[in-house]
Amino acid sequence: MTDVFNIPKAGEEICDFCSSPEIKWRYPTKSFEYPSGPGFEKTGSHGDWAACDICHDFIESGDWDGLADWSLQTMLGRKALGFAALTKDEIQLIRGMLVELHKRFREHRMGDALRAYYGRA
Ligand SMILES: [Zn+2]
Repeated sequence: MTDVFNIPKAGEEICDFCSSPEIKWRYPTKSFEYPSGPGFEKTGSHGDWAACDICHDFIESGDWDGLADWSLQTMLGRKALGFAALTKDEIQLIRGMLVELHKRFREHRMGDALRAYYGRA
């Protein structure tokens, strides 16, 4: 692993999988469209994906179910978008969207993860 990607300042970016501010990895990724559905902006993914250590471990071990569960858990934990009021079916729907989102990430990533370091110009 020779390439290093520099992030200008800590806190400027969050993990694209679980929104943790502890970015440790960067996945070179081609832009792609998000699946459409509740909780997803009707835009797309532009450029590289950032990941924390936890999500990096899921990705590197190929545990996509685990990653979807972890992403869902962190979303629910933040109670974003009124998740507290969601039914079980709605939560399953969102989990399905995360699985699809991660599948698209998998199809569009362009190689191995790079270490991300903070605070270097
Ligand atoms: Zn993460």
